[in-house]
Amino acid sequence: MNTTLFAVTSYDREVYEKEIREFLPERLWDVHVHLWRREHLVPPTGSTRTVDWPSRVAEENTAEQLEETYRLLFPSKTIRPFVFGSIRSDLETMNRYVSAVARQRQWPALIFSDPRWTAREFERRLLEGGFLGAKSYLSFAPSYLPADEIRIFDFFPPHQLAVLNRRGLLLMLHLPRSGRLRDPVNLAQLLEIEERYPAIRVIVAHVGRAYCPQDVGNAFEILSQTRRLLFDLSANTNDEVFEQVLRAVGPGRILFGSDLPILRMRMRRICENGIYINLVPRGLYGDVSGDPHMREAAPAESERLTFFMYEEIRAFRRAAERVGLGRTDIERVFYGNASAILQDLGWNESAGLGPI
Ligand SMILES: [Zn+2]
Repeated sequence: MNTTLFAVTSYDREVYEKEIREFLPERLWDVHVHLWRREHLVPPTGSTRTVDWPSRVAEENTAEQLEETYRLLFPSKTIRPFVFGSIRSDLETMNRYVSAVARQRQWPALIFSDPRWTAREFERRLLEGGFLGAKSYLSFAPSYLPADEIRIFDFFPPHQLAVLNRRGLLLMLHLPRSGRLRDPVNLAQLLEIEERYPAIRVIVAHVGRAYCPQDVGNAFEILSQTRRLLFDLSANTNDEVFEQVLRAVGPGRILFGSDLPILRMRMRRICENGIYINLVPRGLYGDVSGDPHMREAAPAESERLTFFMYEEIRAFRRAAERVGLGRTDIERVFYGNASAILQDLGWNESAGLGPI
């Protein structure tokens, strides 16, 4: 019986060896990883605030499965994650699990926060779990708000931001709204957070969900005026967007993140009329005909689809080459920037880790 978590083909190996292994440094920090166990899952609510396709990739992502994923995808590298829970799970049990496995392995962890917590409750949970910051999701905004009216402050309320600011912690921010990165309300609130909460280390996840060039608008003109906002590359494979964020804020404010486990997906992403579509092998993820973000590839291409993870790194590589990034800059994006943040936070990288 094959007990491997997922299959790695000779084509995957070829992509890794030819395009990825040499491009990456030997040590990496992956700042965007979801962990949960099957038994933490809660029944779907039928909400229209999330997309469906991620649930087709993995039923759970335990710490052990994550370790195996890294071994399969990056055979020669040392890679460590920043971990947090997942939207489909029960908050309390999931946060407890994330905190426990992160402590055992010396991984930085973020709490999955609920905007209804008072400042005191939020702070107590952060401290008890040994969390370095918070991640939340627009689904936690009050249920009477239509998806498109949700603002950042509806799921990261000011009283919680004040706690993160006072302690100088991390905020992993998944932007709401269908306008994504270019949305003027998102942009205004990003500037407001940078100004009012200068000590929070804000990571704008997925480069603000700008998965297609049409999602950018004038965002980078505005964001190039910021001095602290950080961006992670997670679940994004758009080299034009990566090039623009590199030119706007430079490699010192960009962090490699994956969004595992969905980055295990086998796919290639295209944009059509500004909508992203994941091209996937025929039959591998069930019937995808009802999902506007999924499409089966032609049979010939199905054989040559590799991991979402590799597609993200390939896209960043194309952008890095166009911008002319050197080894040192690339090392910062995949390791150094995250490492500097951890050092600033007083997180002891060597404690219990041994030689890496
Ligand atoms: Zn994510």
